[in-house]
Amino acid sequence: LEEQFAKAQRMQAIGNLAGGIAHDFNNVLTIITASVDFLLLNHRTGDPSFQDLLLIKQSANRAASLVRQLLAYSRRQTMRPKMLSLTDVIADMHLLLKRISGDLVKLERHHARDLWPVMADIGQFEQVITNLVQNARDAMPEGGTITVSTRNVLEAEARSFGYSELQEGDFVLVEVADNGTGMPPEVAERIFEPFFTTKEIGKGTGLGLSMVYGIVKQSNGFIFVESVPGAGTTFRILLPRHIPTEATAPKTETAAAIPSE
Ligand code: ADP
Repeated sequence: LEEQFAKAQRMQAIGNLAGGIAHDFNNVLTIITASVDFLLLNHRTGDPSFQDLLLIKQSANRAASLVRQLLAYSRRQTMRPKMLSLTDVIADMHLLLKRISGDLVKLERHHARDLWPVMADIGQFEQVITNLVQNARDAMPEGGTITVSTRNVLEAEARSFGYSELQEGDFVLVEVADNGTGMPPEVAERIFEPFFTTKEIGKGTGLGLSMVYGIVKQSNGFIFVESVPGAGTTFRILLPRHIPTEATAPKTETAAAIPSE
């Protein structure tokens, strides 16, 4: 338990540090992007410096995307939670996920009917799913199957998973499983730390899963990983079931409310 506590504290410290740097860095990037945009306005495509300016702009955009991931990890990103169905979010991403998976990897989806709603930020959860699928693909260079599934989990079942820190109530479960390389325990232990990566320089930043972790925590959820070297990896995310009250239930618009010409 002490070890778990020390780990949580370390993650928090890294998060604070990373969040602080990212925040200041973001201000610098805003200036670079704005200045380059201004310069680009005064250059034509054929000008000698046009390509260089474009390169600066692309690099600044890439840096901005890294900064966004860091901000998400340190929970400094503003989130706009809405009541939503994760089945819908994932179904809408089908083409994107297929493209990420590539030709060698089979993508399967299993969704329970009548999935309970959760309170989450759509954009953030798109990033979560994208990251998990990207990692799964990277773990299967010779091909395999990625399974993305969602289902309702009653409190009693969630408890039977054996995770000690779960709160009360029912959950929605999102699972991303692959039959790729898997990870040894010493890797699995560190994957949520920012900048932890086993990928070559240029291939991985080590920010993906720390961002995923930050988003799940910010949404009052839990994330767990189960991995067997040589057999594959399963990520499980539990998000609290949202029970709509009048304030959060979507307003139904009746035809009468729409003014007719
Ligand atoms: P990155 O993908 O840039 O390395 P992540 O934070 O997304 O950063 O992942 C950290 C590390 O976790 C990866 O480098 C890899 O070693 C490990 N990992 C993540 N997902 C999987 C997976 N599905 N199978 C095997 N290893 C994984």
